[in-house]
Amino acid sequence: MKYFDTHTHVNFAAFKDDQSETIKRALDGNTWMINVGTQTDTSKLAVEVAKIYPEGVFAAIGLHPVHTYQQMLDEEESHFQSRTEVFVESDYEQMLTEKVVAVGECGLDYFRLPSDSDRESVIKKQKEEFVKQLHFAKKHKLPVIIHCRDAYADLLEILKSEYAGLQGVAHSFTDTWEIAKKFLDLGFYIALNGILTFDKTGKLAEVVANTPADRLLTETDAPYLTPPPYRGKRNEPSYVRYIVEKIAELNKVEPEEVAFQTFSNAKKLFNIR
Ligand SMILES: [Zn+2]
Repeated sequence: MKYFDTHTHVNFAAFKDDQSETIKRALDGNTWMINVGTQTDTSKLAVEVAKIYPEGVFAAIGLHPVHTYQQMLDEEESHFQSRTEVFVESDYEQMLTEKVVAVGECGLDYFRLPSDSDRESVIKKQKEEFVKQLHFAKKHKLPVIIHCRDAYADLLEILKSEYAGLQGVAHSFTDTWEIAKKFLDLGFYIALNGILTFDKTGKLAEVVANTPADRLLTETDAPYLTPPPYRGKRNEPSYVRYIVEKIAELNKVEPEEVAFQTFSNAKKLFNIR
């Protein structure tokens, strides 16, 4: 069985002491991965890590909406100072290699707006940086990895006007089937992670049940969102198999079938041979 963790951050400091061991554990367990950048430094690191491995490790480069302004983020599993960066096309252009398979994570995040600045100006900035990245993706014929929190209406509108007919994935999808369907109608994929394993509302089960099998992706978003049986510990790419198992359980199919399908879907979207 082969698995694909389409959204992970082994390029983050959380793995600085055991990055290669973590990647080895994943590859030994037939798990491929895309390390995703969130600003210039982590994007560069994602590319550097990918270069080390002849097979199975890829990179995505981009600017996360929370890094378009500075604030202290303190949540259940993350505690960090966000940056104030803009998407400088030439910087990201220099990072492009055959190992870079997507632009992202980029998008909109209205959940974590800084309390000390004007809401409208922060949103405006997020939108500008997002549009720049959509144009960059279009120019380089790469799919996009979308981060979206409490901003689906605005985000879908931007995708329709700036990125029509192009491909990508709504990463860490947590909304309703109604919203998922809008992404699918645009030609996008839906990616699910540990949140699926602890969603008690049944909302995501409905998304899993209705999303066509050939449009679903699996991810971990490690080091965050660890699924059981490792809840409370650091997440890692090899745990993506628990997401595959959960999808199989919900859809009453064999995990082998889900693994095979989601692995092929990832290869297709990210143009991996
Ligand atoms: Zn992420």
